[in-house]
Amino acid sequence: MICVCMKANINGYIKILERASRHGQRLICLICGTETPTLAGKGMCSNCENALYAGRSALLKSNRQLVNTLDYINAMIKASNYEQALKLYDDLYAASKETALLYAQALLCIRASNYETSLIYYTRNGFMEENALHRARSTQLMSRAKLLLNKAGYMYQNSLANAETKNTRYMLMLIQLKLKDYKAAQESIELLSKQGDEYITNYARMIFYSAVGDFKNSFACADALIKPEGFSINGVYYATLALMKQNRLKDAKRLVTVLGRVLKISNQNALMKDIEFLESV
Ligand SMILES: [Zn+2]
Repeated sequence: MICVCMKANINGYIKILERASRHGQRLICLICGTETPTLAGKGMCSNCENALYAGRSALLKSNRQLVNTLDYINAMIKASNYEQALKLYDDLYAASKETALLYAQALLCIRASNYETSLIYYTRNGFMEENALHRARSTQLMSRAKLLLNKAGYMYQNSLANAETKNTRYMLMLIQLKLKDYKAAQESIELLSKQGDEYITNYARMIFYSAVGDFKNSFACADALIKPEGFSINGVYYATLALMKQNRLKDAKRLVTVLGRVLKISNQNALMKDIEFLESV
């Protein structure tokens, strides 16, 4: 039974975060190339939540081309050249037929769609055609993301019909969450829990509870991941989100500030903006 109390040891969390940042091993994500600090020799990608196992140098030895392509994709994303980055995913998938790449590409479509939306100016005078173009592109990208997620989900279902593995079950659950199919995601978590891996099951429960707005339970799962053994830096992100949702803004702000320093990714920036907005009202 999960405890629903929200006793947050903020100082303890910050200590572990700083320890992970300074002394932790950095693991690379095989589908998005993000490097995430961890203390446990395993972890979850801070960008796409894929399970991580390898360091960059080990992957360079075993698959240099993959590392180079993922680096190139990230350089394209940084330059807001989403079209080129998406095209590179097409090439990667064509070469390897790795289903998880479809999931990573879907997330990139969502990001590109948000980028197109951000280019719409409602006060634009005389440039409404350009707004319509960005709106149309944004919609197209969201449809493409849904198609990719459905395709990947279908492929994982097929694969699970042949053999049950925890990574495939977890990936299917991630996809079901992105598609907001919470009933299916919950069933996947039940099946995942039978695999006997407490770490990945607890992580899956955390993101499920957070997605359905049960922040007391997402916090309890997150708290269990902010420990040196079985650590995930994303636990700090979800704990911060839960604290913010419970209006504990001072604690949330302290955590997000350190998290932002350790991980320079957009999730933290968005969370900080939300906290500052809530503080101002
Ligand atoms: Zn990733």
